[in-house]
Amino acid sequence: MKIHEYQARALLAGADIPVPDGDMVTSVEDAVLAAERLLTESPPVIVVKAQVHAGGRGKAGFVKVVRTVDEVKEAATFMLGNRMVSPQTPPEGFEVDRLLIAAGVDIEREIYLAITTDRGARTNTLIASAEGGVEIEQVAEKRPEAILKVPMDPLDGLSPFQARDLAFQLGLGGRQVRQFVAVAMNLAHLFVETDASLAEINPLVITPASEACPDGQVIAIDAKFNFDDNALFRQQAIAELFDPREEDADELRAKEAGLNFVALDGSIGCLVNGAGLAMSTMDIIKLHGGEPANFLDVGGDASQEAVTEAFRIILAEGTVKGVLVNIFGGIMQCDRIARAIVAAAEEVGFTVPLIVRLEGTNVDAARAVLEEAQDRLPTMRTATDLGDAAKQVCAAVG
Ligand code: GDP
Ligand code: MN
Repeated sequence: MKIHEYQARALLAGADIPVPDGDMVTSVEDAVLAAERLLTESPPVIVVKAQVHAGGRGKAGFVKVVRTVDEVKEAATFMLGNRMVSPQTPPEGFEVDRLLIAAGVDIEREIYLAITTDRGARTNTLIASAEGGVEIEQVAEKRPEAILKVPMDPLDGLSPFQARDLAFQLGLGGRQVRQFVAVAMNLAHLFVETDASLAEINPLVITPASEACPDGQVIAIDAKFNFDDNALFRQQAIAELFDPREEDADELRAKEAGLNFVALDGSIGCLVNGAGLAMSTMDIIKLHGGEPANFLDVGGDASQEAVTEAFRIILAEGTVKGVLVNIFGGIMQCDRIARAIVAAAEEVGFTVPLIVRLEGTNVDAARAVLEEAQDRLPTMRTATDLGDAAKQVCAAVG
């Protein structure tokens, strides 16, 4: 589960990681009020930032550093009135309905700091770079040696000496070191406590030296978190941060029906029981020159309701030109699923080719059910095996 930057900043602040003051707003009027408040309290720089579940906002023009209320008004009007398109969004972009109006900071250096699980090393890993900011993806691609990685002990977590060592490798000095160590240690605790799968601060900035901070201040001005969905049952405060408007509408519907669904770009809808079978179904469609429109696992004990909802979701996308149903009856009995398919297909109603491949327990009874329904479902064809099913559906969609 992802959250917004303003929510992530609140988590950081709660973990004693410095972040600038700011307000989340949903209208231009409130953006102006927030800016007026900040301008009376902070240095005269304001950042207007679109709150969407995608990065690359800076380059897309959806992070604006400004100095006056009029400029805040202009930036807020633009962001709330246009969709944001970045390399991290779909081509049509995301609608923006929330903004963060935050106190701006002067930047001396931008550092990248994140924690995620390194599956290869089987540890949570602190990742850092002295070259943080909006170019971090290019840095990672072109000069991977500029990305530092520190494995965290599974039991002890991050050790202060590791954080200090990292601070020196990043070229920090003086009072910056102690501040950085505190940020890294607090972030490591927060990561574990909240069952995060990603905790990223980019950039973590060093401000120029001032009287109050002779070596500058270490402060987080952007943050991104991802949480393990399987842990949300014990993370109520995190679960409450969920914003359904940021989710794919079909994926949300599927989740509510207990289906495991991922939308894809192709034209062949897939309805399969079991994630492994769903993967191999997608593979074999591709082998025969087709493109799957989705990944859909109805689970091992799919009910008629679940199958019906699955058909609805698959067919809701006008882009689906054919549907492949691939069910292996293990615990599930094929004749039960065949009746569910027929009932669901009749209820939802469709005109695209439907290829059904069933195998396993009670498969003969299931074939009889499908045969009996053939007249009512003229676009339905049965397949003898998975290869035949994939060939048929690819041929049917052209
Ligand atoms: P992202 O592009 O979605 O990652 O958005 P960020 O919040 O990271 O902002 C992008 C860039 O805008 C940062 O790397 C900074 O260079 C700049 N920026 C953001 N906030 C401030 C600020 O308070 N002051 C200054 N001077 N620049 C900022
Ligand atoms: Mn950023």
